[in-house]
Amino acid sequence: MSDSTTTIENATFEQLGEVFRTHSSFLLLSHVRPDGDAIGSQLALGFSLLAMGKAVWFVNEDGLPENLAFLAGSDRVTLPPSEPLDVEVAVALDTATKPRLGDAALHAASKARLWLNIDHHISNPKYGDLNLIDATSPATGQILYDLITSLDMPLPPETRDAIYVAVSTDTGSFQYPSTTARTYEMAADLTRRGLDVGTINSKTYDDHPYRRLELMRALLNTLERSEDGVLAHWELLDRTRIELALRPEDSEGLIDVIRAIRGVQLAVFFEELPDGKIRVSMRSKDKRLDVCKIALEFGGGGHALAAGIRMKGPLAEAKQRVLDAIRRRVDEVKASETI
Ligand code: AMP
Ligand code: MN
Ligand code: MN
Repeated sequence: MSDSTTTIENATFEQLGEVFRTHSSFLLLSHVRPDGDAIGSQLALGFSLLAMGKAVWFVNEDGLPENLAFLAGSDRVTLPPSEPLDVEVAVALDTATKPRLGDAALHAASKARLWLNIDHHISNPKYGDLNLIDATSPATGQILYDLITSLDMPLPPETRDAIYVAVSTDTGSFQYPSTTARTYEMAADLTRRGLDVGTINSKTYDDHPYRRLELMRALLNTLERSEDGVLAHWELLDRTRIELALRPEDSEGLIDVIRAIRGVQLAVFFEELPDGKIRVSMRSKDKRLDVCKIALEFGGGGHALAAGIRMKGPLAEAKQRVLDAIRRRVDEVKASETI
């Protein structure tokens, strides 16, 4: 594996194309608690490789979330098998650090001789044998679109729809500042290739289970805002998860509700996990309040405006530590300029 202390060059598209051409079996992996970009990237690359006649496995530590089961081909995504798979190449997609693939998924991949790492997290230490990390890309799905189209690889409907959902979900429906002209050009091209925009958007955004709204009500009851109005946070207790029979994907995107409050520059979602750890999700509206840097202080990672941490509990302690670190940074920025 690569040493993260040295600067590692990105692989070229041609080098990756060579790997795809000259190998016949691939295990595609993505991060724990997979989101649209994680599963979408697996399906996008996987169905292109299947169309090239390759053998492909789609594995995720936590399996397929219910909210992404509408994606064509998503039934191929499985939990990790207990025995390592006989594959030549493992591909980590949308995964900032190798441990975020999960222990069981890493065990399933342990026979792979070559690791590819394709991602857009700025904190990614390039842990693959070949790495393609583009922190300017709004989603791993967009990197794959560029890769697949420039290498002239097949782009079947499963790949087309998966790329669209990957990019749409990671850009908050093409709204975040990471969205570029290239992103819209890509969406236009996918639409020309037959993507059904209305149907896919309504399956992605207008088909929530009722319990998601019950969760939102519970979260709103915990909402707090700092005196200066810059910071808003809410929390999900393990007890609430059990009471409402929640699934991990139910909270996906809800942090945008408090991020959208006028005056709020930084939003935080604290969640008690069943294993006693605390999941912290952070969003910023101001590049000077770089939440990736704050996350790195606690062993997490992500992007400047969206980052996460998994840390030791209990909740009250984790909250205090993270909120203190955030407050220090907010005060530094305030001292330098007005926000
Ligand atoms: P989330 O708040 O879970 O939606 O994550 C925001 C961004 O930070 C995503 O791009 C995640 O992949 C990344 N991220 C979340 N948690 C972690 C973590 N513990 N370590 C590294 N990256 C993370
Ligand atoms: Mn992701
Ligand atoms: Mn992503």
